[in-house]
Amino acid sequence: MRLAWVMKTSNYRVIPLRTEVAEAARRAATSGAPDHAVVIPDSPQGYPCRHCLRWAQPGERVILFPFAAIPPGRPYAEIGPIFVHAEPCERYTATQEFPADFREARVFRAYNSKQDMIDAAAVNGRQPEAVIEKLLQNPEIAFVDVRSITRGCYTFRIERI
Ligand SMILES: [Zn+2]
Repeated sequence: MRLAWVMKTSNYRVIPLRTEVAEAARRAATSGAPDHAVVIPDSPQGYPCRHCLRWAQPGERVILFPFAAIPPGRPYAEIGPIFVHAEPCERYTATQEFPADFREARVFRAYNSKQDMIDAAAVNGRQPEAVIEKLLQNPEIAFVDVRSITRGCYTFRIERI
């Protein structure tokens, strides 16, 4: 008789910034676009790369540019500043796991399939997985945007599978 193990799998996945967006930002910075700045991190936890979902480290270079997490044309449209590594980095692949570097100081904004914000929560000492699980109990919620709790900057998206 074979034993069947039931794995507990999450009902969501982590969506890092698309590689095409990171590459376009690197090209724009190289060509001197005024809204793309090359920045050298001066602290180990102030410059999150949205592509590899790690903190960029002092000595590395990042590109600062505006990103439309919710595109124009919607009531909750939102464009804000984000960083990506200036050098090519590997897109975050552990999409079943909440990124280890961003377990704290995040706020979760929950949206329906029409990209309207219908709920929000902060980590506040809880496990981020528990906060996400609670938000996704509402079947109306299609995705959750994870942002900095202090500066409000978009970090990554959690999408219901
Ligand atoms: Zn990176």
